[in-house]
Amino acid sequence: MKSTSKPQRDCLSPQELQAKLVAAGIQPTAQRLAISQYVLCEADHPTAEDVKTWADANFPKVSLATVYNTLNTLVGAGLVREVKLPHSESVIYDAQVHEHFHFLDEKSGRVYDIPMDQLEVLTKFSKEFQGLKISGMEVLLKGTWNGPAAGSPAVRTKQKQSQED
Ligand SMILES: [Zn+2]
Repeated sequence: MKSTSKPQRDCLSPQELQAKLVAAGIQPTAQRLAISQYVLCEADHPTAEDVKTWADANFPKVSLATVYNTLNTLVGAGLVREVKLPHSESVIYDAQVHEHFHFLDEKSGRVYDIPMDQLEVLTKFSKEFQGLKISGMEVLLKGTWNGPAAGSPAVRTKQKQSQED
C-alpha cells in the first residue's frame, strides 16, 4: 500500500510561526520561516538532507549551509531537537521537543513518535551500577506498522504538544 498523504497535523499560521520565531529570538527571514514551517509542521523527523531536498524544490537558492544554520538556530532556540537514532548515520530533526520514544517502521523507514506513557521501561541495576544517575533515555522500537489510527497519540500535533509544555 503506497500512500503519499501526510499525517493530519494542525499547524501554526504563518503569523503564528513568525511570532514563535521572534519570541525565540530568531530573526524571521523568508528562508527561515519556510524552513521552520517545513520542519515544524510538514516534515517528519527529517534529516538536513531531507530539508535541503525540500528547499531545493521550493527555494532554489538555499545552500546546505543555510539549511544547517537554520536547523541549528531552531535547535538552539529549543524549537527543534537533534536526535541520533541507531538505525541511521544521519541526525534527524524532531519538532517534538519533549522526551518521547521512537518506533521505526522497518518496511517504510518511517519514524513515528511514541509517547513515553505508552512504554514501561524497568531498570533493575545491580550493585555494580550503584551511583549511576540516569538523565535521559533514548528508545528505538522497530517493527512494522501500517500507521496510526486517526486521533492516536502518534499523530497528535507537534505544535499543540509543544504549546502544552
Ligand atoms: Zn520524534
